[in-house]
Amino acid sequence: MTDLLCPHCETRVDEHPANLCLNQWVAVEVMDGRLENYSATIAAAWEVVEKLIADNLFPGVGFEENTWDAWVFREEPIEGQLGSHVKARHPNVCLSICRAALKAEGAK
Ligand SMILES: [Zn+2]
Repeated sequence: MTDLLCPHCETRVDEHPANLCLNQWVAVEVMDGRLENYSATIAAAWEVVEKLIADNLFPGVGFEENTWDAWVFREEPIEGQLGSHVKARHPNVCLSICRAALKAEGAK
């Protein structure tokens, strides 16, 4: 899989900091142009989660080894099986959600 690069600053998605540039990327790629502080505010980040569900994807978050995983499955996960998915991992759960959402929506 080729690395997803920010269309504004060309930073790799897994290295992109939580800032306005990332929020704008999420707004365009995931949220139909609506800009919020997705990478720092849990209420806004959760709107991204809800949008993924509305787009027939299957997002999830989990806390492991003192950091947050966010993942997005293409199909409803079946217990005991690891289906096709993208994942991001960062102590800031909002940033993990944003990065995973960009990977999911950017790879369509
Ligand atoms: Zn950027």
